[in-house]
Amino acid sequence: MKDYQVIVVGGGAAGMMAAGQAAQRGKRVLLLEKKERLGRKIAISGKGRCNITNEEHVSDFIRNYPGNGRFLHGILREFDNVALREFLAHYGVETKVERGGRVFPVSDDAETVVETLLAYLAERGVTILSGITVEEILVEDGRVTGVQGLGQRRFFAPAVIICTGGASYPATGSTGDGFRFARKLGHKVITPRPALVPLKTAEAWVKEVQGLSLRNVEASLWIGGKKKVAEFGEMLFTHFGVSGPIILTLSRQAGEALRKGEPVKLELNLKPALSSEQLDARIQRDFQKYSNKQFKNALDDLLPQSLIPVLIRLSGINPDGVVHQISREERKGLTALLQGLPLTITDTLSLEAAIVTAGGVDVKEINPKTMASKCVKGLYWAGEVVDVDGITGGYNLQAAFAMGFRAGRAAAGEEFSQV
Ligand SMILES: Cc1cc2nc3c(=O)[nH]c(=O)nc-3n(C[C@H](O)[C@H](O)[C@H](O)COP(=O)(O)OP(=O)(O)OC[C@H]3O[C@@H](n4cnc5c(N)ncnc54)[C@H](O)[C@@H]3O)c2cc1C
Repeated sequence: MKDYQVIVVGGGAAGMMAAGQAAQRGKRVLLLEKKERLGRKIAISGKGRCNITNEEHVSDFIRNYPGNGRFLHGILREFDNVALREFLAHYGVETKVERGGRVFPVSDDAETVVETLLAYLAERGVTILSGITVEEILVEDGRVTGVQGLGQRRFFAPAVIICTGGASYPATGSTGDGFRFARKLGHKVITPRPALVPLKTAEAWVKEVQGLSLRNVEASLWIGGKKKVAEFGEMLFTHFGVSGPIILTLSRQAGEALRKGEPVKLELNLKPALSSEQLDARIQRDFQKYSNKQFKNALDDLLPQSLIPVLIRLSGINPDGVVHQISREERKGLTALLQGLPLTITDTLSLEAAIVTAGGVDVKEINPKTMASKCVKGLYWAGEVVDVDGITGGYNLQAAFAMGFRAGRAAAGEEFSQV
């Protein structure tokens, strides 16, 4: 059997980067992947287009990781968004910036990112064994010695990097195995829970507008009767509730509150660019234009078609009444509804349906300069398996790549260069 110096478990973003970096530093590296093909989560990321990172200046990056951003401080400076884009460009993937600073490959195809990483691993001479599920991490006298796969198949190396991902979208291979390894190895695991996840609502009317995507709306999150935070951007109605970028961003806090039994509400401002006076004036203009029409035919200029019957019902205004008969109070009520459409949040979708897993291996037991375990010598952690999570916009892949970069180099014996 070939003698390896570094074994990487898991061929996602973190694992592929870690393996390549260790091999680049002259180590004989083995990458073990459960699925037949590597990078399955990258392939479905960004709706198949892969939002690889964000253009934002790296000094502002940390605030976009509600889950332990500070832990990433040095790691992200060592391998930042510029470095990641240069790395990809070097291997032939040019990138472009879209709305909100989101960076995508020019190809608009996530598979080009996977193929590039595979080409990188081949160039660096990494041995890849796919279709192998690691079952156990082998340790002797507090030091890692290798790993064991299904059927007692053993592989030995003095350094092992675990990059098994979280527990979301298990069809991609990330089924939470790393959390099991961690507990067995004496690491503390912060309870895995959904971080970026759609929300269920009590209001059944969402079903009537499922599939409707709204741009430029503002969603405010209310917990225990207090407004906590608001997000501006794009959202989507589904048959069970709400989803889309701004909802996913709010979902982490919403989920935390629900788990504590606190009441959670959302208020949607469908016209956030207007003050309530401006919106009222705008509605008055529409009402003048349609003064002899029925109310149900007077909102076409203001709202998407599918939302009109819902809002008419919620407004309490007679849909068949003539517009000029609508009272001032009724009109004011409609304005308030358009700028504060209430939704009661009852639950999140499951961890399996989350874009990202919050929780994972406790960062207090990982050295942020090396990604090395403080519990077992020669063991390293990288990627979503670690208790770090970011908002949407490319932050999670950037974190996975940066942690993989550091772990791969450290496992190959290279010191941390950042202060
Ligand atoms: C639908 C969706 C869209 C997303 N879009 C974006 C986006 O556009 N931008 C962004 O920044 N983030 C996005 N994310 C999040 C991002 O993809 C992940 O955070 C990131 O890929 C995590 O990388 P990782 O290498 O840590 O883990 P993973 O990519 O999950 O890789 C873990 C690998 O380990 C393997 N593995 C697991 N257990 C074992 C074992 N026992 N033995 C061997 N191998 C094992 C798995 O098969 C898998 O290949 C998205 C996530 C989802 C689900």
